[in-house]
Amino acid sequence: MEPLARLPVFLALEGKRAIVVGAGAATAWKAELLSAAGARVDVYTLEPSDELLGLAASAPRGPVSILARAYAASDFDGAAVAVGAIEDSAEALRFAAAARAAKIPVNVVDRPELCDFTFGAIVNRSPLVVGISTDGASPVFGQAIRAKLEALIPRGFSRWAQAADAWRPKVRALALPFRARRRFWELFAARAIARPDATPTLPDLDALLAHAHGGDQTTGSVILVGAGPGDPELLTLRAVRALQSADVILIDDLVAPELLDFARREAKKLMVGKTGHQPSCRQEEINALMISLAKAGRQVVRLKGGDPGVFARAGEEIAACRAAGIAVEVIPGVTAAQAAASRLGVSLTHRHHARRLQYITGHGVAGHLPDIDWNSLADPSATTVVYMPKRTLGDIAAAAIAHGLDPATPAVVVADATRAAETVVRGTIGDIASRVEAHTLAGPALMMIGWVLALQAAVASEDGRADTMSSRDRVVGGAIKLRRGTSNAQSR
Ligand code: SAH
Repeated sequence: MEPLARLPVFLALEGKRAIVVGAGAATAWKAELLSAAGARVDVYTLEPSDELLGLAASAPRGPVSILARAYAASDFDGAAVAVGAIEDSAEALRFAAAARAAKIPVNVVDRPELCDFTFGAIVNRSPLVVGISTDGASPVFGQAIRAKLEALIPRGFSRWAQAADAWRPKVRALALPFRARRRFWELFAARAIARPDATPTLPDLDALLAHAHGGDQTTGSVILVGAGPGDPELLTLRAVRALQSADVILIDDLVAPELLDFARREAKKLMVGKTGHQPSCRQEEINALMISLAKAGRQVVRLKGGDPGVFARAGEEIAACRAAGIAVEVIPGVTAAQAAASRLGVSLTHRHHARRLQYITGHGVAGHLPDIDWNSLADPSATTVVYMPKRTLGDIAAAAIAHGLDPATPAVVVADATRAAETVVRGTIGDIASRVEAHTLAGPALMMIGWVLALQAAVASEDGRADTMSSRDRVVGGAIKLRRGTSNAQSR
């Protein structure tokens, strides 16, 4: 084993006596922490703060008593731990020495050299508890790591850990062979990780026991996970959890490769994109693969760009799973339209200018225009986002104008939204197709149409990168009067 800076140990303090000496806010925090851990806390302080009085009146777990006097050597008798929040160095030294003389482990706040033990940062999912120590190097760093773990460790794990505690005697009473018992707890952990928000029930216990006896006959499940537009920071916490509990990940080609850093290392990753230069997988093949893996007991994550429910054939995959009796769950993602809007700093709807928001596909059968109600695009109070518009851009613009859309309506094409290659091309529905011709847009691109874009387009340069827009531009843009949008909106 590598050298270890500190040995993490988890003290059982329930019903034991803890001594806290000192004044100020730290005294109350430490007393609260010790009480939460079940200790009977005696606080020696000459000037109890309001916080401390409040804590004594309603302690989280073990009782907190305030003794308004200086501590004496005999006060350490029978204590389990002693904590000092003492500023004066000589005082602090005396306190630590007194505790040690009484053979009580001691902690002095902010004085590592006087401490037998330190308090780490805590992630509390009791009975599951995570402690974090930086060996005093940087408590703030420890807190930042705590915040990350808080986000990653579902609150529901508390319920699963409680269930483990409650079920342990029942499982022991069954006197299962070692392998079956071990398998039970592995299945238990897998289920908790896959379904952290579920409340564990006795039928769960029975099902897990049946599976533990029955060898490898367990059925897996499928989770359709929205990977968002590309920037990994736009993954949801739930998506990250699903990626970390997956056995197999089936990946669409729209998914940004850096997202896979969040996947469980051991998970098998299969590209099942339907486009691109490689021979592509047909939807039926993807469905069949997904189902056979789940039937073989795997946790399958189907990772899709953006949101799984927006132009991603999730409906077919959900139906196929249900028909095969496989449990299927959907985790939403940030769809490309929302990502692009956020990068432009525009709102897709507006109280006065945009009362309809529609996502349409620009991709019909065999590269032709899709069969949609073109009149809906002519609505001047609509924001329209066209997905997959690259091949039909000119035809879409022409069809919308032919159905009455004002050619001066702002139109913006955003490619690779939230990714390093992000490109923005601005224009009107009348000229956007010719403007786009001047660019090679390699990545996924969408087109946004509507007067909400005038708040931006009127001031931003023709095709500047969204991330180079200054906040001043945004303010100036926001103040611009919408001539057409306003009058049209009011006339409706
Ligand atoms: N489920 C996805 C959409 C899949 S359809 C979602 O919710 O975003 C594929 C189309 O999505 C692309 O042709 C493009 O129009 C759009 N798209 C996906 N990611 C994009 C991105 N990062 N930037 C711009 N458009 C994107």
